[in-house]
Amino acid sequence: MIIAIDGYSSCGKSTVAKAIAKRLKLNYIDSGAMYRAVTYYFLQNNIPFSKTADVIADYSSILENIQIEFIRNEQTGQSEIYLNGKNIEAEIRQMDVSDNVSYVSAIKSVRKKLVAMQQQMSTLGNLVMDGRDIGTTVFPNADLKIFMTASPEVRVYRRYHELIEKGIKVTPDEIRKNIELRDYEDTHREESPLRKPDDAIILDNTYMSRDEQVQFVLDAVAKLKKAI
Ligand code: C5P
Repeated sequence: MIIAIDGYSSCGKSTVAKAIAKRLKLNYIDSGAMYRAVTYYFLQNNIPFSKTADVIADYSSILENIQIEFIRNEQTGQSEIYLNGKNIEAEIRQMDVSDNVSYVSAIKSVRKKLVAMQQQMSTLGNLVMDGRDIGTTVFPNADLKIFMTASPEVRVYRRYHELIEKGIKVTPDEIRKNIELRDYEDTHREESPLRKPDDAIILDNTYMSRDEQVQFVLDAVAKLKKAI
């Protein structure tokens, strides 16, 4: 079974996806972490990019030097992202990555590489993947597609507290600007923009607890199984 969870920034997609993966014993892949890893690499290596994307005609030799893996942390039970052998789970959540990721993820060759890697992960078997184009581009034939949204205020509030808990210094205003920027860039890019897949179920979690959201998806899975 493949479950695709797409939606706007900071809607809690990964929280729900992780919980569903645990409950249903599926593999979980955070596709946003992969775009963040490439962005981190670009920033660390001063690789130029711009809003207009593809500034350098060919990023292919640069992309060949980027190796991304997910490795399970036995202590937490969560899979963590590695870039060229280094755990960068903390680095990719910093604001410099958040402020640039939507520009790097708009670059065609970056998307091509990461989409191919994500599609390859279906060989893992049962999978839940969250992102922006999972139901539209990566797995258009996913068994279940969920499109998540929430009010901007709730998203800012949740993300602010999440980052503060992780020890990342940030203000609510910085978070709000970052969410607005990413939503705009992600929905307006040329290559697989964020949009609701026609066959996705909408999950607006503005007034829902985490458990209610998980139950919503579990109910959708149960319905699906009944229908088969
Ligand atoms: O999911 P997360 O908020 O960590 O994603 C970070 C960014 O990565 C998004 O704002 C978007 O620009 C990009 N992304 C994407 N396609 C995906 C997942 C993430 O373009 N499937």
